[in-house]
Amino acid sequence: MISTAPLRRAAACCCHQDYGSATLPPLHLVVFISHTGEVFPSGFLPFAAGNVRSESLTRIYRESPVFQQLRDADQLGGKCGACEFRHICGGSRARAFALTADPMAEEPCCAYVPKNYVPPANVPSLQWRRPTTLSVL
Ligand code: SF4
Repeated sequence: MISTAPLRRAAACCCHQDYGSATLPPLHLVVFISHTGEVFPSGFLPFAAGNVRSESLTRIYRESPVFQQLRDADQLGGKCGACEFRHICGGSRARAFALTADPMAEEPCCAYVPKNYVPPANVPSLQWRRPTTLSVL
């Protein structure tokens, strides 16, 4: 059985709050460890932050630039960057990356419009596009 205690300690340390083992706010990320030991912030975010074969997982989670940037809600773009809930929500960084190639871009599936947020002109809104037909191979 794999213990999650080191990660829980890391999460508690990085934000000076202890969220226990139940839930973490989205900006307090989980980790994905590949079969070669590379550590990623998600299975859908292909940014290797380190390797558990040569570094401690806790150190990678706390100190790697990848994890530090993804936890920094003040670096979020678009409406997430202007949102009063960015420190407790932050949106899906994986979805933002999938649609924009920028993991710090605004969450494309969120319907909330932050107070006083004015979208930039001439920038098409990121909207989740539902397929109109279902393709089955
Ligand atoms: S805009 Fe939506 S997804 Fe982004 S931080 Fe605010 S509530 Fe969360």
